[in-house]
Amino acid sequence: MIKKHAFPIANSVGYTATAVYLGCAALTVIIFYLDLIFPRGVAIGSLYIVVVLLAIWSPGTRMIMIAALITSLLVLIVLLFKPPAEAPWKSIFNRGLALVIIWITAILGAKIKKAEQELIKIASHDFLTGLLNRREMYNRMHTEICRVDRVDKPFSILIIDIDYFKRINDRYGHVTGDRVLKEMSAMLKEHLREYDYVCRYGGEEFLVAAPETPLADAHELADRLRREVEAKPFAIPAQPAIPVTISVGVTQLVKGEQIEATLSRADKALYQAKESGRNRVVVA
Ligand code: GH3
Ligand code: MG
Ligand code: MG
Repeated sequence: MIKKHAFPIANSVGYTATAVYLGCAALTVIIFYLDLIFPRGVAIGSLYIVVVLLAIWSPGTRMIMIAALITSLLVLIVLLFKPPAEAPWKSIFNRGLALVIIWITAILGAKIKKAEQELIKIASHDFLTGLLNRREMYNRMHTEICRVDRVDKPFSILIIDIDYFKRINDRYGHVTGDRVLKEMSAMLKEHLREYDYVCRYGGEEFLVAAPETPLADAHELADRLRREVEAKPFAIPAQPAIPVTISVGVTQLVKGEQIEATLSRADKALYQAKESGRNRVVVA
């Protein structure tokens, strides 16, 4: 059973770009105001690191750098334009320290963000093919199903299975089998729309989720993919081209049903496609 309130992994980490942007802007204004009203000797400039720390919760590294740049500029503006209330070397030292702290925080924050993005990728994608993994696909489908229930849009899925894949492994070896899986993944990505999702569903099985696609269009898509695979034998370096075919089970989500019921229907259709000779599409 798919967990309720499951979100794509990337969306469940941090805040939205807008929320972080507003938070950073508000904090910057407050700190800048404090910096203006306090005597210049007080080390308010260092407070700007909270802006940079907040920016680490944004979806990417860009906002961290923007936060560091803007706050550094404000630290310098106060140094240059506010009348001194202490020896000049003291305020230069004070402001210099603030800049160093801001940039150390920004650089370390950007490194943490990059590591986090890498981990999100590892946790949500298949290592061999680079497609989404099953877990991430379920999360995204859950989000999509909530939308279908709300706005009454069609949502179709395709389960694709490579025919006689074991023979490819047996004849050409597992490394070549892996290459065929990678080529197949690239072909699927190339032929799907930007808002379709594709995941590696199992060993040589792929699951395509096509939002806002009625059954007839999904059928057409499945047949287009089937013909494409059949027409172009897979070119593997230093090997004769390998002819490959696929069988596909297609179905549309029925409003109100659990995704497991939809998947099971598509699986049965795939089974029928196999039973009736392979290299074909069956619609349930
Ligand atoms: P069918 O037409 O009925 O689907 O036959 P099939 O041979 O494709 O299906 P079967 O389930 O008998 O075999 C699937 C094979 O896929 C067996 C397994 O070794 C292979 N396989 C699964 N994962 C991988 C992988 O990551 N790399 C490689 N090279 N092979 C894999
Ligand atoms: Mg299979
Ligand atoms: Mg197979």
